Amino acid sequence: MDLTLAPDILEQLIEYAKNAYPHEACGLLVGRNAADRFIPITNISAHAREYEMDPGELIAALRSLRDMGEELLAIFHSHPHGPAEPSKTDIERAYYPEAAHLILSLAEPERPLALAFRIVDGEVLPIELHAIV
Ligand SMILES: [Zn+2]
Repeated sequence: MDLTLAPDILEQLIEYAKNAYPHEACGLLVGRNAADRFIPITNISAHAREYEMDPGELIAALRSLRDMGEELLAIFHSHPHGPAEPSKTDIERAYYPEAAHLILSLAEPERPLALAFRIVDGEVLPIELHAIV
């Protein structure tokens, strides 16, 4: 199962992640077939190299999906300094196995790199990321 982003979503993610720099940014990518809505969620982690979504915002966002008939397609977060690969913590905390994970690396700020994965039972499977232009 690939992950497809509607037009402008990738640009939104890059801008949001750059604004959160040097902290990790996080949020949800939702839609029906393609991810056409990005819901930013506040990162409440005190650690620079991980993220923890604000639980109240997360619950409200998941509720809004249900009301709008959308699905949670991917969990987004950024790596301000690291590669676009799940960290050990990311793998341990992959609580939504049905959702893909999109990681945006800002390690090279002029060339942000986004890669998508599925994380199921501690296993990381790279998947294809398509961005509709
Ligand atoms: Zn991470």
